[in-house]
Amino acid sequence: MFRAPVFDVYGMTETGPLAWQCAPGGPYHLAEDTTIVELVPSPVPGRARLVVTPLWRRVMPLVRYDTGDLAVAGDRGRCACGSPFATIARVEGRVVDCLRLPDGESLSPYAITLALEEVKGIARYRVIQESPTAFLVEIEPERRAEDAITEAVRRVLGGVLGSGVTIRVAFRDSLEPPAGRKFKVVENRLREAERLCVS
Ligand SMILES: [Zn+2]
Repeated sequence: MFRAPVFDVYGMTETGPLAWQCAPGGPYHLAEDTTIVELVPSPVPGRARLVVTPLWRRVMPLVRYDTGDLAVAGDRGRCACGSPFATIARVEGRVVDCLRLPDGESLSPYAITLALEEVKGIARYRVIQESPTAFLVEIEPERRAEDAITEAVRRVLGGVLGSGVTIRVAFRDSLEPPAGRKFKVVENRLREAERLCVS
């Protein structure tokens, strides 16, 4: 509509802006002039927890505030745009929404959304881990192609979740967000003790 490139900015109410995309589709520069951003190891391979200390909050300081989000570190060295600020490749959602696989590995929600991107005909979906070995995939289809969607969802999610789990696919007329709550695309309903990635 605006005939302009779209840039993404990452931040939260408590911390203000934390990172911004330096070019459409490019890495995110950390707001290192206003915030100390630490990438702390997480149980998910290749992903770090974002722990931040905003330097401008004087009334209620936040020191090493754990955002609960996971990030993928960017390339070391200066970005091609010339900015001296370090980069992250992307932010990958909440630590608590990681799935736990039967072999004990944690899986980022991003692996799920990435796999389901290739399935055509889905208007909205939600993936719920109901037990350590059972997953429910709720789908609001764009058109009547249930059999093809079911087959494709089982194939791509089987690729990331591995064997030893059941994947149930259910079709819904509408996947409206629950009233007053955020709509989670990937949701872990395991009890806290069963989750690996919650500290
Ligand atoms: Zn840059």
